[in-house]
Amino acid sequence: ASEDQKTAILSVYNKQGLLDLAKGLIKNNVRLLASGGTASLIRNAGFEVDDISSITKAPEMLSGRVKTLHPAVHAGILARNLESDEKDLADQNISKVDYVVCNLYPFKETVGKINVTIPEAVEDIDIGGVTLLRAAAKNFSRVTILSNPEDYHDFLKELEAGDISEKSRQLYSLKAFSHTAEYDEAISDFFRKKFAGDGAQQLSLRYGANPHQKSASAFVKDGKLPFTVLCGSPGYINLLDSLNAWPLVKELKKALGLPAAASFKHVSPAGAAIGVPLTEKEREVCMVNDIDGLQESGLATAYARARGADRMSSFGDIIALSDEVDVPTAKIISREVSDGVVAPAYSMEALEILSKKKGGKFLILQMDESYEPPPIETRNVYGISIQQHRNDVQITPKETFSSIITPKDAPLLPESALRDLTVATIALKYTQSNSVCYALNGQVIGLGAGQQSRIHCTRLAGDKADNWWMRFHERALDLKWKKGTKRADKSNAIDMLCSGQAAHLTEIEKEDFEKNFEEVPKVFSIEEKEEWLKQLSGVACSSDAFFPFIDNVLRTSHSGVKYIAAPMGSQADAAVAATCEQLGITLVEQSIRLFHH
Ligand code: 5GP
Repeated sequence: ASEDQKTAILSVYNKQGLLDLAKGLIKNNVRLLASGGTASLIRNAGFEVDDISSITKAPEMLSGRVKTLHPAVHAGILARNLESDEKDLADQNISKVDYVVCNLYPFKETVGKINVTIPEAVEDIDIGGVTLLRAAAKNFSRVTILSNPEDYHDFLKELEAGDISEKSRQLYSLKAFSHTAEYDEAISDFFRKKFAGDGAQQLSLRYGANPHQKSASAFVKDGKLPFTVLCGSPGYINLLDSLNAWPLVKELKKALGLPAAASFKHVSPAGAAIGVPLTEKEREVCMVNDIDGLQESGLATAYARARGADRMSSFGDIIALSDEVDVPTAKIISREVSDGVVAPAYSMEALEILSKKKGGKFLILQMDESYEPPPIETRNVYGISIQQHRNDVQITPKETFSSIITPKDAPLLPESALRDLTVATIALKYTQSNSVCYALNGQVIGLGAGQQSRIHCTRLAGDKADNWWMRFHERALDLKWKKGTKRADKSNAIDMLCSGQAAHLTEIEKEDFEKNFEEVPKVFSIEEKEEWLKQLSGVACSSDAFFPFIDNVLRTSHSGVKYIAAPMGSQADAAVAATCEQLGITLVEQSIRLFHH
């Protein structure tokens, strides 16, 4: 080759556009070197090309496993315009390579075929091509790497006009690195499924969000999955629930120092609580008055409260528990309709009880308590990856609720208010936004999730809190059930009664409602309900973002709210504070917005 003649190495699997490219390169006085198949195609079309073996002085070997792997090739590509590099090349009689054209074996297509064998897949793992791509991409300051036939046209235009600009070389380099990254990901995906074993690093899921969405799986790219399946087989939404519910209880326990529980449905909590002993009435409302050892188990009281908050919504829940599951907790779970549980450990006896549930199909996950997720999280929506720093902000009773806006001369918040604001706020951190949560006695009593308008969250949460409180009314506690009425049917009927729905039923609905009772209860009149709600007090309320209007504050005061924590920043801040002042509500600035999706 003459002094100023440039050299291109071509080794492509996808030979689209190759001849036009070869023609263009030759026209611009570029010398062509190519691997076996690529060279014969160019040569057969009548263009001049040398085999790579002419510079390596070694034949292609091992049926193509070794074609371009050689210092004559890679030193030629990797050499910089440095005196020492030039000397090394001269010593070995190697010339510089200026352009590399390479695309890889079709690994993805091969493993996409039905019943592909491991040896077939292995043969399609490109080695030399990846090395060509990486070497040329690394040396972008001097070398141009073409990894996509669609770029040949623009490349030739630029070459004809002079030479390839630095900007273009950088962009081609980026493309090449993305090409090899995607390629290696396809290989590791394939082997993860083949070699890692189901459950260690990856787990096949029954199906995705819906039964027709197949190819569902969960995996980590590094290390092991932080949970083990002890029983059952998780679906996609089961995992979404588990992986939101678990950090919620872990955080609640850390923040308040008591065992914690959550009852999740559709990626929001229906209930969440810490282990505060229950009064007799609470035990009745939560339908756990017959559980032995309940009050001695912090975990059982936590789950009794989490499940008891909104029993209707908790139907078919995923449960998260912060501590080793004991017998009283397992007994509460065993007779409820539930999909699964995640906890750090299970006593032998508890595991035995739970494994029998749902005909042995109850999902039981054991979570590695020490697991910390990486700081950056990525998800893929509509083919696009979106990424952010995980919301790892810590909510703590002392620091998070220390800034009291009103009343001006407020005394310190009582411990119970700090506890309940903490419960409500940590629950919101794992609730689909917008969200507003009411809490009392260490538990969520009403949660409004996933509403587009804040006031709708505040109303929904308030209505749920009211509903919860109506269940303490003696008429709701003293229901005469027909024998054999199921627990879930009882919960639904209680909800009808306490929410006020039972006051306006059609004939058919009435029949459906009344069939549960030996003696049909009298519905609550508006006055009775108002009278009873007046006795609800000391409730804490948290909002995942600021209140844009005072209507939210006004609504909370109907449901006994005494403490509100919310971010500020709304034009209505001053009016919100004034309304709180007027209603005797303590308003705390909780400075961190907690949107979650
Ligand atoms: P050809 O059709 O020219 O014989 O082969 C082109 C293909 O071989 C390209 O996809 C290229 O990535 C790949 N390739 C180039 N050098 C090597 C090598 O040394 N080993 C392996 N396994 N593949 C190579």
